[in-house]
Amino acid sequence: METIVKKIETIMKSGYVCDHCLGRQFAQLLTGTTNVERGKSIRMFAAILYDADEIDVDPSNFYGIKLRNKKSGDKKKCIVCEGAFDNMGKVAKKIAKKLGKIEFDTFLMGTRPTRKILENEERLWDKIGIEHCEPIKAEFNRELGKVLENIMEKKADIKTPHVSILYDMKNGISIQIKSIYIYGEYQKLKRGIPQTKWPSGKYKVSIEQIVAKPIMKVARGSGHKFHGYGREDIDALCTGWRPFVIEILSPKKRSFNLKEIQREINRDKRVKVRSLRWSSSEEVVRIKQGRGKKEYKCVVVCKRPIEKNELKQLKELERIIAQRTPTRVLHRRSNLLRKRRVFKISAKPLSSKKFEFKVLAESGTYIKELVSGDMGRTRPSISSILNNECTCKNLIVTKIEKKL
Ligand SMILES: [Zn+2]
Repeated sequence: METIVKKIETIMKSGYVCDHCLGRQFAQLLTGTTNVERGKSIRMFAAILYDADEIDVDPSNFYGIKLRNKKSGDKKKCIVCEGAFDNMGKVAKKIAKKLGKIEFDTFLMGTRPTRKILENEERLWDKIGIEHCEPIKAEFNRELGKVLENIMEKKADIKTPHVSILYDMKNGISIQIKSIYIYGEYQKLKRGIPQTKWPSGKYKVSIEQIVAKPIMKVARGSGHKFHGYGREDIDALCTGWRPFVIEILSPKKRSFNLKEIQREINRDKRVKVRSLRWSSSEEVVRIKQGRGKKEYKCVVVCKRPIEKNELKQLKELERIIAQRTPTRVLHRRSNLLRKRRVFKISAKPLSSKKFEFKVLAESGTYIKELVSGDMGRTRPSISSILNNECTCKNLIVTKIEKKL
């Protein structure tokens, strides 16, 4: 193994190496100091060796140092970082300017050196080994992070940064802003509104859009995503409060008054929201996996008149039923057989051909099909038990059990 002096000579022989890049090759030696400090000390020591004619190196390394017996060379560009560290202050200012209009407390700094710089580093390591060194990327991130902490008065944070900054030495600066998440519960008070934006533009407005509008106005995000705790049919109402998390992508502002937002959303009479609070991506996962019982109410319309006594037979529905994917959604969902538990039902006659039907069922039960039977694809069904042709009208989700 080469001695440290030999290594220093090898490094400085290749050309001018700046304090950062010189010190970094010995970053694993000493602690509580910086690579710049290491570099400065090594340079001074090397200057002594050079002045005593004990090493043979590129004299540009001693630019600005007064030697007694030899001449120091002219200033040159660092053969490893190619001046990247000298340029750091300018980069920091540019980043701070870019972040000027964004609200955040914490950031993460990332750097992508040019291919050329990485090759310079590799070439040097080939000669001196990697025993004591630190990669340039690590030092650059740390040092630029420190400068940014100072000029922006924000904190570097690896785990949960509000913004991630990437300084690509070739392509420039890019910034990623972490989404904000807001939890709430909604009621849908008007039929014909889908939960999320319909791709074909068939429906003019969605619950997502109604909820997102006042938030986007304040947060000024680039977009939004709606994560619902299940969803009701477009033509159904939902008076039970359905949990959701709305995600705002790339928000410029990430703290504001949710009470005001809630009031703003509730100006729209088609949707009502409550319990707005800050949420997280972890909660989105839980919301999506949510499997609570649901209670529904609808009017069942029968083709032939029904006897009041007949309705008692419907108690037979309180069991596990089998449902094939409904014909109405078969074009976008795979044809599966699902078993769902119906916990509780009740029926109240309204007229000779109509009755009110209430049902408490496992999450994912298709209620319209539980009524109609969907040509035998749901078994049993109201149609099959009453031996009548029954349809579900005015469907309302009345209760949603929260299992979060
Ligand atoms: Zn350098």
